[in-house]
Amino acid sequence: MDGMGMIDLRSDTVTHPTPEMRRAMAEAEVGDDVLGEDPTVKRLENLAAERLGKESGLFVASGTMGNLVSILTHCGRGDEVILGDNSHTFNYEQGGIAALGSVHPRTVRNRPDGTLDLAEVEQAVRPDNVHFPRTRLIVLENTQNRCHGRALEAGYLRAVRELADRRQLRIHVDGARLFNAAAALGVQAGELAADADSVSFCLSKGLAAPVGSVVCASSPFIAEARRMRKALGGGMRQAGVLAAAGIVALSTMIDRLPEDHANARLLAEGLASLEGLTVQVENVQSNIVYFDVAPGGMTAVELAARLRSRGVLVLPSAERTLRAVTHYMVARRDILRALEIVREEMA
Ligand SMILES: *Cc1c(COP(=O)(O)O)cnc(C)c1O
Repeated sequence: MDGMGMIDLRSDTVTHPTPEMRRAMAEAEVGDDVLGEDPTVKRLENLAAERLGKESGLFVASGTMGNLVSILTHCGRGDEVILGDNSHTFNYEQGGIAALGSVHPRTVRNRPDGTLDLAEVEQAVRPDNVHFPRTRLIVLENTQNRCHGRALEAGYLRAVRELADRRQLRIHVDGARLFNAAAALGVQAGELAADADSVSFCLSKGLAAPVGSVVCASSPFIAEARRMRKALGGGMRQAGVLAAAGIVALSTMIDRLPEDHANARLLAEGLASLEGLTVQVENVQSNIVYFDVAPGGMTAVELAARLRSRGVLVLPSAERTLRAVTHYMVARRDILRALEIVREEMA
């Protein structure tokens, strides 16, 4: 529950920095990061790269910037990127890769488990022909937000890597919630980054830092990405005050993610037991719960408004679909209270 007594399940982006983060921010050693002189930013970048088993890291302002910088570093004007039709990059980043980078998106259907069918990816790869754009990159999302926050397994990522190698493509993983994926699968995040050329993850979601994402990749790639970040206006100066919170996020917030996943499960099972709501409980693997209201009853917007008036915030995501996301500011007792309120409003 937040300071205003609301149970805010709209997103894990609503998390506030922890007291330890605020202290670290106040005391952070800083310098001009565009000149490469901020020791705290460097420490965060190194820590993140180490965690993911990559050579280097780049601190960026947001997940959107992490994906944009990465894709524009992989691709030139007119190159094509294969990505899921339910991916965040295709749906929620304003088409920035096309608008700002002239990169051509080619969507492949996301299956309900978040994966792209390998045969469909293979078919989408362009042959060498003067009529066609050049396929350059595959973008995967882990966890796959709009597919119930499902985690993509290392074996699947390996298979995509084999395809990419065979067709001379590169792979970017939008790992906004990569640490949730790792927790859901019981593996180290590095295992889920191993087969990607670049990976971005958010510090500002379940890890609760106020700002920022990190892109991790090889050192030559990060050197180019650093140039691209500057061109996009993302060169920050004494950013160590932000990076300091990111360091605390990486060292204190990862091991507790299974709690959020258990709470999401509890919420999903509770919602599934209510008349008029349906939940695909078996798909709830991480901290995201999608649930549907039955046709004929309230719309998603109407139910969300009723819940808001009772102090429970959820996100309508389609006509009859709502989303709830668990995070460290929502305790088990808040989930039980939220379920009680939903039950009363559905009655
Ligand atoms: C949140 C999110 C992003 C973008 O992060 P912002 O920091 O909000 O720009 C990218 N991809 C996925 C899957 C996300 O959930």
